[in-house]
Amino acid sequence: MEAIVSLAKRRGFVFPSSEIYGGINGFFDYGPLGVELKKNIRDCWWNDMVRRRDDVVGIETSIIMHPKVWEASGHVAGFTDPLVDCKVSKQRYRADQLFFAPIVVDGNVVGYVSALESEKTAEELQSAAETFKRKKAIQGKLEPVQPRDMTEAKPEEIELIPSPATGEPGSLTPPRAFNMMFETNVGAMRDASSVAYLRPETAQGMFVDFKNVVDTGRVKLPFGIAQIGKSFRNEITPRNYIFRSREFEQMEMEYFISEDADWAKEHRAWIDWCKGWLLSIGVPETHLSEYNHPKEKLAFYSKGTTDIMFKYPFGVQELWGIAARGNYDLTQHATASGKPMEFFDEAAKKKYVPHVIEPAVGVDRIFLAVLCSAYAEEDVKDDKGNVEKRTVLRLSPRIAPIKVAVLPLVKNKPELVQRAQGLYQRLKRKYPVFYDESAAIGRRYRRQDEIGTPWCVTVDFDTIEKDGTVTLRDRDTMQQKRINEAELFALLDEKVF
Ligand code: ATP
Repeated sequence: MEAIVSLAKRRGFVFPSSEIYGGINGFFDYGPLGVELKKNIRDCWWNDMVRRRDDVVGIETSIIMHPKVWEASGHVAGFTDPLVDCKVSKQRYRADQLFFAPIVVDGNVVGYVSALESEKTAEELQSAAETFKRKKAIQGKLEPVQPRDMTEAKPEEIELIPSPATGEPGSLTPPRAFNMMFETNVGAMRDASSVAYLRPETAQGMFVDFKNVVDTGRVKLPFGIAQIGKSFRNEITPRNYIFRSREFEQMEMEYFISEDADWAKEHRAWIDWCKGWLLSIGVPETHLSEYNHPKEKLAFYSKGTTDIMFKYPFGVQELWGIAARGNYDLTQHATASGKPMEFFDEAAKKKYVPHVIEPAVGVDRIFLAVLCSAYAEEDVKDDKGNVEKRTVLRLSPRIAPIKVAVLPLVKNKPELVQRAQGLYQRLKRKYPVFYDESAAIGRRYRRQDEIGTPWCVTVDFDTIEKDGTVTLRDRDTMQQKRINEAELFALLDEKVF
């Protein structure tokens, strides 16, 4: 993870926000290459999800919506995470990410240990329990720790659990609900009547505009409404870099289906679509898995939720959630606004509120997933047979920020430079390309490897003296071959879509 964060900073993918002022926790900036990579992820999704399908249309709704939207959706009352305070250190923890365990020796509880959620929570608790027993010179057999999170702590246990900040018990509060919506005021008045929220998800825009789309979009069931945009959540503990931030971008789609449809089949089809799409932008299947939310943890209206999980360096975590939400959202807005949300189903000749399947994903989480799976350090041999290290980002040509680098072999031969410039200008009209004439050719290849450029083309003496072909060098295999300009354009046309 450290190597990836450092590369992302060094090569202009991601910077901490407001860095010159010490940064602001949970916010990030995307640099010149990062913004291209992110845009490519968004564009691929939009093209595949909206433009290349006949049954999905796009919209863009405002970030600040009528506050009643968030009352009807349940966010004002229930968009909360459980929060635990440490009264001494003033640190705050998400209760479901703060783990503890009783230390049991010969069947008796002799104390408690705590640790923040990580890949090694159980090991950390076990070793803390062993240290505790040793320090206090307690005799007897230590039982293996049984970790629980703070939402599962009994009231009498809370004051016995040590705070991770101080290591001492007595300062943690019982968990309480913390609403994650950012509040603001709209207009010149700053009172209760002007309170509004930055949206915590883009999905409500699709439900609130449902009637407008139906009335203007000539849609037939089943159909989807998609949107890409920023969302904001005042996360208690933003962490793991851009994985959990307070300002992030979502790509969501609400797929409306008949009330009589086989929702499980539709749900499965969307899980498969999402997985297939991830593979198409180069996320390796080996890093993906599925997690089905247990029935008893689902909201009462939810029929089923499956998360596509990705193996990040800090653990297997949710990348994409695909939820079958019944007709809860539209019904809530119909009731709260007094505006009917029914759809007249021509085929079935009846009116009803459609049901919905919702695939919801974060752009930043995909960004991190592709960086993590593309990053590699390898030993390679240079021209003289010496082994050297190369850092390479094996990004799919679909999303790589730069598709091809144009390199004149040397910079002091005007004919070569002119030829290379000409090719660069022609490529630039269709693709993001990079022109580089400084340093030895091997160094220039390495620079492109590190930022994920799939191909380099070198304009050399054969180009100007013989047949006009250029050397095409492949990032992953490092193989070189000669091709002409038409073949180069054909290759890009096939791989960049
Ligand atoms: P988590 O359990 O990780 O908090 P969630 O289940 O609350 O996520 P959803 O409300 O289902 O997330 O949001 C849909 C998608 O939006 C997630 O799958 C994730 O990709 C993205 N997302 C959610 N919260 C964040 C965040 N704080 N930072 C970046 N991306 C996020």
